[in-house]
Amino acid sequence: MSAQWIDDKLESSARVQNSMKIEREDHKLEKRLCREVGRAIVDFNMIEEGDKVMVCVSGGKDSYAMLDILLKLQKRAPIKFELIAVNLDQKQPGFPEHVLPEYLAKVGVPFHIENQDTYSIVTRVIPEGKTLCSLCSRLRRGILYRVAGELGCTKIALGHHRDDMLQTFFLNMFFAAKLKGMPPKLVSDDGKNIVIRPMAYVTEKDLTRWAQVQNFPIIPCTLCGSQENLQRKQVGNMLREWDKKHPGRLENMFAALQNIVPSHLMDSQRHDFKNIKTTGVADADGDKGFDAEEFKEPKLPGHAVIGITPMTSG
Ligand code: SF4
Repeated sequence: MSAQWIDDKLESSARVQNSMKIEREDHKLEKRLCREVGRAIVDFNMIEEGDKVMVCVSGGKDSYAMLDILLKLQKRAPIKFELIAVNLDQKQPGFPEHVLPEYLAKVGVPFHIENQDTYSIVTRVIPEGKTLCSLCSRLRRGILYRVAGELGCTKIALGHHRDDMLQTFFLNMFFAAKLKGMPPKLVSDDGKNIVIRPMAYVTEKDLTRWAQVQNFPIIPCTLCGSQENLQRKQVGNMLREWDKKHPGRLENMFAALQNIVPSHLMDSQRHDFKNIKTTGVADADGDKGFDAEEFKEPKLPGHAVIGITPMTSG
């Protein structure tokens, strides 16, 4: 038995152990993704018995992952619902039009490809050098709403995740002076469709890893040559930086979006400040206006909510 033979054996055993560890981690990730998507669906009653859900797939990692997880949940859900994957081929130059149909046929989901040359419209209308995304997505939205009606879909599922929702919240605050986020479920602006975001609780980090595990055939959105929105990019970087330096901060901010106290903000439309009256009744949960607020360290991991003191109903 040579030293080389022993080294080789040790190395191969380390390799096996490492690959088993990766497999275990990936299995845990799959369970977490299913659990978080299932939890969002239940919390917001996103999918009901008999629904036909139009799953919008763009060829990006998020929509591939959404379809993948919804297909897994469909098999074990206590209710019956249909899924149909829909892709809008916007005719960007170089769009590999065979990729999605091949993938969707392989996973065995019913699908529809809608061919609409919005690329020509957008490049004709928007002056050179300006970002195309805003008009492009407006056109896309209108087309997808129409297609949902034509296909008889009762829900439209979009692949936005937790970090998209946080980004939108900060973008609205920084650049539109609004406390407004991206809802997990809403009625579309044409009043005819219910839009759902089943990945509301899923982190982008998990989706990036899942896309690697599943080896999704990703199609970049930037084929059209448009630049990513600079403000969104900046806010995304800010959030990633916070996540690195202050573990738990993103979880707390996300939990805060579900834990709003309008009486402690300043919007008179949401709270009738002008007509506030004393009640004469002591309330342990009432506002202790003179005390300084105390904040506890967040508990990790999970969506822990830090202790926030004065709180009245609102
Ligand atoms: S990157 Fe291109 S295809 Fe994607 S939204 Fe912007 S304009 Fe549309």
